[in-house]
Amino acid sequence: MSASARIIRGRIVSFTDDPAAAGLSARHYLDDGAVLVRDGLIEAVGEARDVLADAPEGAPVDDHSGSLVMPGFIDAHIHYPQTQVIGSYGAQLLDWLHNYTFVEEQKFADHGHCARIAEFFLEELIRCGTTTAMVYCTVHPQSVEAFFAASERLGARMIAGKTMMDRDAPEALRDTAERGYDESKALIERWRGRGRIDYAITPRFAVTSSQAQLEAAGALAREFPEAYIQTHLDENDAEIELVARLFPGARNYLDVYDRAGLLGPRSVFGHCIHLKEAEVGALAATRSVAAFCPTSNLFLGSGLFDQARLVRAGVRVALATDVGGGTCYSMLRTAAEGYKVLQLNRQSWPAAQVFYRMTLGNARALGLDDRIGSIEAGKEADLIVLDARATPAMAHRMETAKGDLDAELFVLVTMGDDRAVRQTYVAGAPRKL
Ligand SMILES: [Zn+2]
Repeated sequence: MSASARIIRGRIVSFTDDPAAAGLSARHYLDDGAVLVRDGLIEAVGEARDVLADAPEGAPVDDHSGSLVMPGFIDAHIHYPQTQVIGSYGAQLLDWLHNYTFVEEQKFADHGHCARIAEFFLEELIRCGTTTAMVYCTVHPQSVEAFFAASERLGARMIAGKTMMDRDAPEALRDTAERGYDESKALIERWRGRGRIDYAITPRFAVTSSQAQLEAAGALAREFPEAYIQTHLDENDAEIELVARLFPGARNYLDVYDRAGLLGPRSVFGHCIHLKEAEVGALAATRSVAAFCPTSNLFLGSGLFDQARLVRAGVRVALATDVGGGTCYSMLRTAAEGYKVLQLNRQSWPAAQVFYRMTLGNARALGLDDRIGSIEAGKEADLIVLDARATPAMAHRMETAKGDLDAELFVLVTMGDDRAVRQTYVAGAPRKL
């Protein structure tokens, strides 16, 4: 037998498609199911009696009967250097960046600090059931090195990149168009194709990158088509006015990025709240992704994401925490706030669609659905165990759910957080302490 084989038994929930389009047939559910994992991959999934009967001799069985076994959550936009500015009081985007974030990010010049924060950050993601994230580092290459090294030790699938910023920030956080290009390129070449690591070219946003730097980012994207691109777009009114002043020749905010060659199916734009029609059209036409960051949008008073408008226009949408503008690492709590934002827009978001989005939906948005996002043989074994009775209040509420899976999933969305995550498996190994 392989020493790494393991059986995870429980109530299995996984999606094969978007329930918004395909209905509930897109949800795969086994009341007493089991997953056989080996060498980091899912080898088999099915009824527990069948999987157990065919299991390798001596493989341990993790019995989570009664709890839900699901694919790990995926967070499409988060900043690992902001773990100690989360919950900073009283500012909107531009002041928040200058007063808190740009002060904190200067500490990442120190390699020891990078390593310590990267460890904490990944541990926290695992506690919350997030097994893949698309992550901003700081301008310092060592912040990326530390993050990828910690991710590699954990064995987690992570996407990250060095923030490029050459203006409107403290001297210590500025690179130049050329240095941003050179340092990003060196990181890509060093980390490309290594295990479960992917690189994201990361111009922070149009305010802190000159035209020359955005063009350098575009050149990198052409040189390394397998790399992702991540940045921010149309988050805050003052930001949008500033971008219009900085780029008087651009037709709109997204056009600034478009002219630099930064749109495409591997590009993820954080926020996308105040989009003009032309911008919605360009996102859809280029198959770019809009990342919905509800706790951040509420906390910084940025505005309400219009999911229905984007979906109707054919824009690919992802869900994300945006810690530390976002206020919680938990995708469950993020989804709860997302639900409320959509309520204010008079839009519905059934629990099945929410869980699809946090798993296979976000995997599709990141082009990773051939590897993660669902529980199928051959996929990578990133799994979580969820307990809808994790707290006294949840257990009390569950008394009236009466075996209704949708009700249970919605209780998890509205009341769940890291306490509802009983275990997180990364590449088949239990990692929640
Ligand atoms: Zn962000």
